[in-house]
Amino acid sequence: MAIATINPTTGKLIKTFEPLTGEAIAHKLDLAQTTFEQYRHTSFEQRAIWLNAAADLLLAEKERFGQLLTLEMGKPIKAAIAEVEKSAWVCRYYAEQGAGQLADVAIETDASHSWIKYQPLGIVLAVMPWNFPFWQVFRFAAPALMAGNVGVLKHASNVPQSALAIEEILLRAGVPEGAFQSLLIGADQVTDILADGRVKAATLTGSEPAGASLASAAGKLLKKTVLELGGSDPFVVMESADLEAAVAMAVTARMINNGQSCIAAKRFIVQEAIADAFMQKLVEKYAALKVGDPMNPETEIGPLATPAILKELEAQVEAAIQQGGKVLIGGDRSALIQAHPDLQSGHFYPPTILVDIKIDAAIAQEEFFGPVALVFRVPDLGAAIQLANNTPFGLAASAWTTVELERDRLISEIEAGSVFINGMVKSDPRLPFGGVKRSGYGRELGTAGIHEFVNVKTVWVK
Ligand code: NAP
Repeated sequence: MAIATINPTTGKLIKTFEPLTGEAIAHKLDLAQTTFEQYRHTSFEQRAIWLNAAADLLLAEKERFGQLLTLEMGKPIKAAIAEVEKSAWVCRYYAEQGAGQLADVAIETDASHSWIKYQPLGIVLAVMPWNFPFWQVFRFAAPALMAGNVGVLKHASNVPQSALAIEEILLRAGVPEGAFQSLLIGADQVTDILADGRVKAATLTGSEPAGASLASAAGKLLKKTVLELGGSDPFVVMESADLEAAVAMAVTARMINNGQSCIAAKRFIVQEAIADAFMQKLVEKYAALKVGDPMNPETEIGPLATPAILKELEAQVEAAIQQGGKVLIGGDRSALIQAHPDLQSGHFYPPTILVDIKIDAAIAQEEFFGPVALVFRVPDLGAAIQLANNTPFGLAASAWTTVELERDRLISEIEAGSVFINGMVKSDPRLPFGGVKRSGYGRELGTAGIHEFVNVKTVWVK
């Protein structure tokens, strides 16, 4: 895949980049290691000053950075600016909390003194996706840098300018040169970097195949990994739920980031008694969504990030229809283009709702990465939970109910890294984030996130 900015709204090539040569990568790893030897001895206070300065820069220039995100991957501009703000938040969060999260912990044993000491590991390789080009990287970089690690980033090939902008922000904030470097490289260059003895660990956010590839290479090398992979999150609505609130949130939860979020609600599982009303309201709201140029602040749905994603989504919808699925709205790109000829050369896909997909159909278990909702009817709570768990994924879930007993069962029986009751799934720097099953392992954010890439050293002194 070429390393290039291609505007998904127009399909126009904006800028291409040559991948780094092996020699250039070696220089960058040399610099990262030399920097680490010094950087690991900097104080938490100093690191917090740098992270707060990065947050200040992000906020001061959020419009400019937001435009860059929208240009490279097509998210609506308001959401892009909000992403830059959230990136500032995670920098501030770890600047404030990191020292406490990594402070020595005394444990009483047979020693005179025994305690846990957290120490940095060294160079951590981060392989990141394009869908939240700033947020995904800052949620790795802020805790890694706070813990005294240094980072090298392999960002997705379609967001190279975002990758370079992040390195520049951190340098301007005062982070020492070499503590965070963006490597413009292809996916085929990742394994060699991982194999370098100075690279101690890796984190990957992306698809299952990419995760499996990195994890198997890391397994052979006995290096620690954290994986944040795909999801097909359920959004369960029980008869007792506040229907208006659930439907309103159902739209946001599915359409966030033009439908390209790992934690977007993808399967709507609705109790039979309210299913018709739910679907009718959902269709009305989908019909009112404004699809168009994501630079326009009025736009709610922009293009998909790449032609490949558009092609895959179209094929999935086609397969779903062939397997008995019925289209309630959307499902036809040509109708969208006919109504809006100006969108022809962009990677646009209309908001789509599919129903009547058989629970055991292969398509019911896949991740749909785009503005396509699958709606299922279920008779009762047991069936809802069973269906919610009927995918290989286990990232997160949203469930709507006002009955305490139902709430308790949903919380304890849904197989996912997070369960949100009467609210939409979202990441928050204060709360751990990650999945189970094929959605990955390990956690980002919160205290758990900063503890992933440290040596938890036991100290025992007589
Ligand atoms: P992707 O194709 O897996 O790409 C993600 C990153 O991995 C990119 O930097 C990509 O580089 C790299 N990559 C691809 N194949 C690789 C390989 N064999 N070895 C090493 N690196 C490799 O995923 P995507 O399509 O960009 O992102 C969408 C997926 O990410 C969805 O499944 C989504 O659910 C998931 N996601 C998960 C989370 C989470 O927190 N759980 C968050 C966001 C997205 P190139 O661009 O050069 O191919």
